[in-house]
Amino acid sequence: MIISYLYGPEETKSSIVFSQLQFSEAYNVPLTLIRPKIYYLLNREEDPTYVRLRGKKIKVKNLVLFPEYIQKKTNIYSIEKAHLYSVDDLKQILSLVERINPQALVMFLGLDRSHFGEVYESHYFLLDIAYYKERIFTTCSVCEDRQAVFTQAVDEIGLELFIPSVERQITYKLYEPRCESCFVFPSDA
Ligand SMILES: [Zn+2]
Repeated sequence: MIISYLYGPEETKSSIVFSQLQFSEAYNVPLTLIRPKIYYLLNREEDPTYVRLRGKKIKVKNLVLFPEYIQKKTNIYSIEKAHLYSVDDLKQILSLVERINPQALVMFLGLDRSHFGEVYESHYFLLDIAYYKERIFTTCSVCEDRQAVFTQAVDEIGLELFIPSVERQITYKLYEPRCESCFVFPSDA
C-alpha cells in the first residue's frame, strides 16, 4: 500500500475529496470513500452518499461508513475526517485494506489539531506511517493575510468559543481557519 496523508485546518480538505472523486470518474479509477459513521449519525441532515463543493455534488459510488466492513476491492481508498478516528480505528482500516488490495493507494485527510489547539493522536500516527504527507494551507479568516494552521470555533458574531463535548464538536458548524497570531487558545480566552 502507498499511504498518503493530507492535513490542515477547517475549509482545506473538502475540495480535495471532491477532486479525488472527479478524478476517479474521469479516468475510471475505482475509489472507495470511507467516512466516519458517527458523523452522519449525529448530522442526520447530511447525506453521506454525496460529496458537495460550492453548489456542485458528486455521487459516491463506493461508500463505507466506518466501522462498517470494507469489502470492495478498489485502487484507491480515501479516508475523510481522519481525526475522528482513534489510532486503533486507523490501524483496523489499514489492515482491512491491506487484506483486500495490498497495491492500493490509501489517502487520509484530516485536521491535525482540535479547536483547542491540541494535536490529535491520529495526526502523530499518520505522520509516522505516511509515505507522502502534506500540510494544506488556507488564508486566515481574521487577518485575511497569513496562512491558517489552526481551526477556531466561533459563535454567530465571530467570538471564540470552546466545546468540551465531542458529540457537540461534531455537530457544530461554525469553525474557521486562523493563523498562529489570530488563533485564541482556551487559556487566553
Ligand atoms: Zn490571522
